[in-house]
Amino acid sequence: MKPAVYFMDARSDSPDTSLIAKMLTVFDAARLGEMISPGDVVAIKVHCGEWNSSAYLRPVYARALADHIKELGGRPFVCDTTTLTYSPFSSRATELDLLITAERNGYTSATLGCPFICADGYVGTSDYRVDIPEGFILKEAYIAQAIAAADVLIALTHFKGHGMGVIGGALKNLGIGAQSKRGKFSVHMGGHPKYGVGGGVKFTPEAFKGKANDVNWELLENCCPYGLFKVTADDRIEWDRKRCVTCLGCLGLMNPRGIFEPLQEQFDATDAAIADAALGAVKAVGRNKVGFINMAVDVSPKCDCAGFSDIPIVPHLGVFASKDPVAIDQACVDAAMRSPGTPGSLSEEMGVAGAGQRKFDLAGAAIEGLSEQTTINTAVVNGLGSRDHELVHVAKAGPERFRFPPDPRPTYKRFGKLFEKFQPFPRERFDGQGFDRLPEVDLSAVKHPDGPKVSIHPHAPYHGDGTQHPAPSNGHAAEGHRHGHAAHSHSGDD
Ligand code: SF4
Repeated sequence: MKPAVYFMDARSDSPDTSLIAKMLTVFDAARLGEMISPGDVVAIKVHCGEWNSSAYLRPVYARALADHIKELGGRPFVCDTTTLTYSPFSSRATELDLLITAERNGYTSATLGCPFICADGYVGTSDYRVDIPEGFILKEAYIAQAIAAADVLIALTHFKGHGMGVIGGALKNLGIGAQSKRGKFSVHMGGHPKYGVGGGVKFTPEAFKGKANDVNWELLENCCPYGLFKVTADDRIEWDRKRCVTCLGCLGLMNPRGIFEPLQEQFDATDAAIADAALGAVKAVGRNKVGFINMAVDVSPKCDCAGFSDIPIVPHLGVFASKDPVAIDQACVDAAMRSPGTPGSLSEEMGVAGAGQRKFDLAGAAIEGLSEQTTINTAVVNGLGSRDHELVHVAKAGPERFRFPPDPRPTYKRFGKLFEKFQPFPRERFDGQGFDRLPEVDLSAVKHPDGPKVSIHPHAPYHGDGTQHPAPSNGHAAEGHRHGHAAHSHSGDD
């Protein structure tokens, strides 16, 4: 039987069609709540976003999901893990940095209503090793301890592109995001004789232009956490490649200078390994204890691990839920392919904006030759899931479910007594009109696309001809009291 992927589109015109409501509605339709028994510890795995990225999922999604899990009797926590890269200025390499970044991005225990945890510990070495004999390339995985220890795991994923993984979906949320730091080293082919950076990258030291011509030469020398680069007195760059562990920290400096040439096979091997590592995460928690929600909104071409977020390459695609991570990622890839690209985005720039065109091979991947299907196909090979699926359109759940829960009473019951004490409408002022306003104006005069069609106030600071009036000598607004009332001016809070 084909796995089901439950889907709602991204249109919204009522509280029960908000994206938050849709997330909870597809969660229920996919019966993910049935995995949770009273008292179960439930890990909600998110990507909290890099410093200055802005397309990552708003924390309110995780909050609403955590609240719902509590209603079901579970004990939720929200988590992310330390990054592999120690690249210069990376913002999530340790628990300390991750928590600082997560907090800046809005992920805190206070906002989430449950603990926010760095799941693999301070350095990223708190983990649980899992054998994966079914793996296509990896035979073991190192799962972040807090995730492996959970009774139930919900991968709450922002579906988007990724420079190395091509797509950043449910599989990557587990295949990278649920791995400890050493798990991530393994997935990225750390120390691999053929696919690792040290093993396979083409090194062209002649591309280094010398200290005088590269103001960042000291950064080059100091970009590796193992200190494997040296700029010599005679202006050469040396690299101790035998000791390279493939942390990727140097690539952002070496690749653009031509000192390194990206190794496509490393990217392909990593994309395959993501699927194996995702299988490891599912095995660590239990096959029937892991559920998936993909929020295919703000589909930026690069991952939330970049320190920026480009224009989405396609419009919002919708909200998906499934018990199969392969099916749910395939459903999102299919939806992106069916969709036209966003005008002015990278999908247009790369010539893949047409409906029916694969988007991520060129608009997601950092180099040409990668495939948006590599991770998905590998996850079919290792038995994690199925590409074939049934897409089930889910109906909205009704407005009752999504009313403001702390006080569900209608307006008069909520506010009638309060208004008797604290009347916000000042009826007694200005002859019962309450506020100081003109009885009638020509509203059509300020609706014209070319600008206002009414004379500009003589004391307006900017004139229609672009000239600026000098500020009144007393430093206050020049407007007097039209009606002779002692109108109280204030700072403009509203
Ligand atoms: S040389 Fe290797 S270990 Fe050093 S920064 Fe580059 S990838 Fe990392």
